[in-house]
Amino acid sequence: MNLNRYRRQIIVKRLGEKGQYILSEKHIIILGCGGLGSNSANILVRTGIGSIDIVDDDLLDLTNLHRTSLFNEEDTSKLKCQILEEKLQQINSEVTVKGIKKRITKENIESVVKRADIIIDGTDNMETRFLINEVAVKSNIPWIYAGVHGTVGMVMGIIPRQTPCLKCISQSIVDNIEGEIPVLGNLPVIIASIQCTEAMKTLLGKQLSGMIIYDIWKQRFEQIDLKRNPDCMCCSKEQFEFL
Ligand SMILES: [Zn+2]
Repeated sequence: MNLNRYRRQIIVKRLGEKGQYILSEKHIIILGCGGLGSNSANILVRTGIGSIDIVDDDLLDLTNLHRTSLFNEEDTSKLKCQILEEKLQQINSEVTVKGIKKRITKENIESVVKRADIIIDGTDNMETRFLINEVAVKSNIPWIYAGVHGTVGMVMGIIPRQTPCLKCISQSIVDNIEGEIPVLGNLPVIIASIQCTEAMKTLLGKQLSGMIIYDIWKQRFEQIDLKRNPDCMCCSKEQFEFL
């Protein structure tokens, strides 16, 4: 690893040289690479993570461009995961980046995530997130939930059996969204940045910040400490309904 490349980051006391080395040995899986996933991939590759798999089966559409950073007009109709693999590898050749064309299902998710040190949520629907939650608990892999809607974004780092899982807090998440999800274009990059910070903290064994909610229009930031549900069907009783 070229430490000099990360010099300005290493002098941040919370990371340091030791932290940089820890990150350089970690493997991250990003599920979905739209507004959140592609921005998180960009941040993590620049940060110097060891290797990153980006799993997505969608083609880039012109309507993706307002909330993403790396895609160009000429990339439309190409596979998002392949465009990202190519561009991110040019940004940091020390990181192994792999684009995987795959739609996540209950049949394939366990094999897709099995090597991961952490899973980054770049999906856009709650059903897939509950599936990720169950596989994360079952396989004991931390994951960082994130979502955006309109001007509001939400992030929560989940360490199985240590912090509340998505099922533990499902009462506090609204899931009656129908049709296209509205998203202000400048929101995903900041939510992705918060998501990546929680991922770094998890990989470094640091305390997470609970549920983080940010409204970019009101410039209002909330941090909520939630408790595990001792009767949670997922992380306490290990009864999986989506897997
Ligand atoms: Zn739970």
